[in-house]
Amino acid sequence: MPPVIDKTICGNCGTCIDNCPLDVLHWSADGRETEVKYPEECWHCNACKLDCPNGAIQLRLPLPAMLLYTTSPHKN
Ligand code: SF4
Ligand code: SF4
Repeated sequence: MPPVIDKTICGNCGTCIDNCPLDVLHWSADGRETEVKYPEECWHCNACKLDCPNGAIQLRLPLPAMLLYTTSPHKN
């Protein structure tokens, strides 16, 4: 599922727009708000969520990506 921005806590700092490696996040037409313009382009890298200073982005990773982020319980 593509990112969802909680507009009640988003500070419109533009960090997520700058850091998205794809073409997903953009400024709104009036240049005042961040919006998810091309959600189908999201590859769920998680960068926008990790870099948001306000914790305003919700991102539900698809199952294959969740498995990649799971750490092994076995340690060397
Ligand atoms: S990084 Fe967070 S606070 Fe900044 S524009 Fe994006 S969603 Fe809003
Ligand atoms: S998860 Fe990655 S690709 Fe998707 S919007 Fe966030 S930074 Fe862009």
